[in-house]
Amino acid sequence: MTKVAFIGLGNMGHGMAGRYLDAGFDVAVWNRSKSKAVDLIARGARWASSPADAASGADAVVTMVADDGASRNVWLGEGGAASTMKPGTLAIECSTVSYQHALDMARDLRGRGFVYIDCPVTGLPQAAAEGKLTLLVGADAADLEKAQPFLKPISTTVRHFGKVGGGTVFKLINNLIGAVQIASLAEGVAIAEQAGLDMKLVGEALATGAVASPQVIRHSKRMIARDFAGASFTSALRHKDAAYAVALAESLLPDVPVSRAALAAYEKAKAQAPDDDEGSMIRMISQPK
Ligand code: NAP
Repeated sequence: MTKVAFIGLGNMGHGMAGRYLDAGFDVAVWNRSKSKAVDLIARGARWASSPADAASGADAVVTMVADDGASRNVWLGEGGAASTMKPGTLAIECSTVSYQHALDMARDLRGRGFVYIDCPVTGLPQAAAEGKLTLLVGADAADLEKAQPFLKPISTTVRHFGKVGGGTVFKLINNLIGAVQIASLAEGVAIAEQAGLDMKLVGEALATGAVASPQVIRHSKRMIARDFAGASFTSALRHKDAAYAVALAESLLPDVPVSRAALAAYEKAKAQAPDDDEGSMIRMISQPK
């Protein structure tokens, strides 16, 4: 059986790991807190005592953790996956990390004889659990070919953005544009409320008008109702993605004022309620003057 090590069983990773079990892979799992693995173990996953233990004997190691620091820990920290991987093993980074981190990890892991691809994803936790993610890949074409059997169980679409780092560049601009949309939507909804508009009508008009992106449609409903139940992307994660995107932007462009403004909005949202849904920044913005 093909062996996969899956590291990071948060909202996204838990569902993704389950997809490999459903597809008949031999799956070893590790997460910083073991409680999130219990049902996966009951479904046949092997609990590993460390990322190194999970990676031992694996054909591919897939990581889905929070940020650069977590990624560095699970690949290269004490008990990190790289310490036991055999030469030629696929290292598939699905976490959203910074561009510089993706390049650094590629250099380090390739230097140890592994095949590294950056593979951040779009899709909410439900899509992760259903194997319906879109994968944003940076990799040499031959490496992507090798990785395909490990990408199939978790995705419906694979977009190849060229060499390593390309997937991460696209993911960061995508989530930066999302951050701008959501932060500006929160301000627009708050203005309409304070001005006394009929918010049912505002919701309908936003969801059907010229600015009706899928994000605006989803978040306008949630913001107006102040109901953030269901699949969630937290303020802390959106802030992290915006910060990585602004760092990349500032390395390439003279000025990115809109991006920096969205980052500042998420700095405040994260300071108030890091683990709340990103759309809940409406609560912070909508205080009357
Ligand atoms: P999450 O539920 O907060 O899970 C984060 C994961 O990272 C958990 O497994 C957590 O372990 C682990 N982790 C955090 N710090 C760590 C450290 N220092 N060392 C080792 N492990 C650490 O986040 P998520 O929503 O699954 O997101 C995971 C990644 O996917 C992020 O990069 C995010 O930006 C990206 N993403 C998320 C979504 C979404 O809709 N949620 C969509 C696309 C992409 P514990 O369980 O022990 O805390």
